[in-house]
Amino acid sequence: MRRSCAFAGGSLILCVSAFAQTPNYTPISGGLPKLEKFEPAMVDKSKDACSDFYQYTCSKWIAAHPIPPDMPSTSVDLPLFLYNQTILRQAMEKAAADRQARGSERQIGDFWRSCMDETGRKANSKAWLQPHLNTIDSLKSRKDLARVLAYLHLNFPAVWEGDDNGTKAPLFGFGPTQDFEDASKVVAAFDQGGMALPSIDYYTGAAARFQELRGKYVQTVRKMLELAGDPAAKAEAEAKTVLEMETAFARASMDNVSRRDPHKIYNKRSLQQIKAAVPDFDWDEYLKRMGAPSVPFYIVTTPGFLDAVEQQIKTRSEEDWRTYLRWWTVNRAAKYLGTDVEQARFDFFGTALSGTPQMLPLWRRCVSSADQLLGEALGQAYVNIAFPPESKQRANQMVSKIRETLSEEIKQLDWMGDQTRKQALIKQDSTLQKIGYPDKWRDYSPVKIVPANFLANMNSANAFEAHRQIRKIGKPVDRTEWTMTPATIDAYEDSQMNTINFPAGILQLPFFSATQDDASNLGAIGMVIGHEAIHGFDDQGRKFDEKGNLRDWWNPEDATRYDEKDRCIVDQYSQEIPEYGVKQNGELTAGEDTADNGGIHLAMMALESSYKSQGKPLDTPEADGLTARQRFFLSAAFSWCGDVRPEAARTQVVTNPHSLPRFRVNRPLSNMPEFQQAFSCKQGQPMVHGPACRVW
Ligand SMILES: [Zn+2]
Repeated sequence: MRRSCAFAGGSLILCVSAFAQTPNYTPISGGLPKLEKFEPAMVDKSKDACSDFYQYTCSKWIAAHPIPPDMPSTSVDLPLFLYNQTILRQAMEKAAADRQARGSERQIGDFWRSCMDETGRKANSKAWLQPHLNTIDSLKSRKDLARVLAYLHLNFPAVWEGDDNGTKAPLFGFGPTQDFEDASKVVAAFDQGGMALPSIDYYTGAAARFQELRGKYVQTVRKMLELAGDPAAKAEAEAKTVLEMETAFARASMDNVSRRDPHKIYNKRSLQQIKAAVPDFDWDEYLKRMGAPSVPFYIVTTPGFLDAVEQQIKTRSEEDWRTYLRWWTVNRAAKYLGTDVEQARFDFFGTALSGTPQMLPLWRRCVSSADQLLGEALGQAYVNIAFPPESKQRANQMVSKIRETLSEEIKQLDWMGDQTRKQALIKQDSTLQKIGYPDKWRDYSPVKIVPANFLANMNSANAFEAHRQIRKIGKPVDRTEWTMTPATIDAYEDSQMNTINFPAGILQLPFFSATQDDASNLGAIGMVIGHEAIHGFDDQGRKFDEKGNLRDWWNPEDATRYDEKDRCIVDQYSQEIPEYGVKQNGELTAGEDTADNGGIHLAMMALESSYKSQGKPLDTPEADGLTARQRFFLSAAFSWCGDVRPEAARTQVVTNPHSLPRFRVNRPLSNMPEFQQAFSCKQGQPMVHGPACRVW
């Protein structure tokens, strides 16, 4: 299954994460917000660079930028998020005002109007929801489950999109995936799903905070079902049924560390075998309704999960199933209905799980929905304004330079034998780098957008995307396709496609500017580029070959040496985080941590090579009083400055493969002799990790 970026919303993805907001922001008349950029004055000279470099770089910025009330965290890309959203807003406002607009212009204009019409949404929520509830009410016997489930899977997000923990769709996930054994083919896959909470731990964890959250979850289900029209006494009992059914799915699910091992989630099953495991579900009916082609086999990520599906179908009443599906429908529809339902959902998923007191303003929620549902239609407007050809050219050169550096690195690695080295270089040379935006924009013309029914617009856009995804099954792979929209502040590596992808949305300050010096660019975006390049060679990525096939191309001794070196990183990161009362699991974050360590190393090598070719010294102070090496590390650290609410931090540590920002700075840098050289750090100081961990 494709994985989506879980902290914001996983592919093997670097989450720089879009968490940003200026709460009292009102219409744009004075232009776009000013973007952050590292400045030497931001350094906190009262702190010791060799004790805690993150604090040395970030404490002044953090003190001056408290977390906004409608965000789970804050970070230096906060103004960039607002900047990107403002550009998208302007495009939609312009389209909405133009009554002559046609095609995708008309679509984004009408979408904007339907979302911003809070009064209409409030007045019409029940009427909009009713046809969906009627379909659920037509479930009269077990036989009907497949039909109703397919209906919901087509109309509500997002059955084809799994994350690190499962697929957030009722009962299970279904969609296309590249075949692990033959990456040139797209095959069909079923994923564990059916759980609205973030991961298994939330259902089965014995800790007090999990128990407390379960209590709040039941109350949320009750309240939202009541708002959807169920009587209070009934909703109370229904909420308990929902928790029971989801807990049964959680108990049969694979944990997020095991899910990192592609061998564990690659289980081929024929349709006959699936039918034998779940005889009480009408698989033919489901697949027909989903428009899925007939295929020789399916990948089932968690075979044991099917047993739980069968058990629930066999033992639950039709009434229980209607309840469960009604909950999922209301939960998935909430963002597109009136504010009361949306608020009830936010109180749990935003406030209880992430600690965020209030929702983002309506216009920003509308921009996010549009970016999610019609992203490439909006992306063209974004690129026209924010990503000129010079930016694309400079970014492309940087990515090429860092990849050349990785090739040089592979040629010199002392722990790798020649056979593995040869294969690694082939893989590296075969990687496709994509910068900014797709060469060919997606055509949304089949999506029906109307100015006065926001939920129907989401249903239509979702059905379009579900069909588009399912049509890929059985077809050749398209490596040029993007899984992030152009305005996204993030980047990703896709091991099966063997691509690295950098949307225009992250190729901006504080990460990158076409007019900024090399040390600043390489420290910030260079680390991100290196990170994505290394993902092809981390604990997951190294298991795929140059074609994207799951094939062991490693000489066994080299693989053992890799595991030993990576163990150093796993141990370094597996630490208690006392202030949050949780322990980081270095096994879960190994891939991201390895990519962070390797990524910044590659960026530093690229800087060294650039300065050498120009005959310039790296360790002599320049105009701003900093050496290039110092500015590199400060820019790297600065691009991660921020703060996370404790609730959001705890959720991240339990469910997400990315370490918290301060660890993404201090731990890789403490492994680097170049850092110690730049800031004269000595053995025994906290920013000098002994022994230094280094894989790539
Ligand atoms: Zn990553």
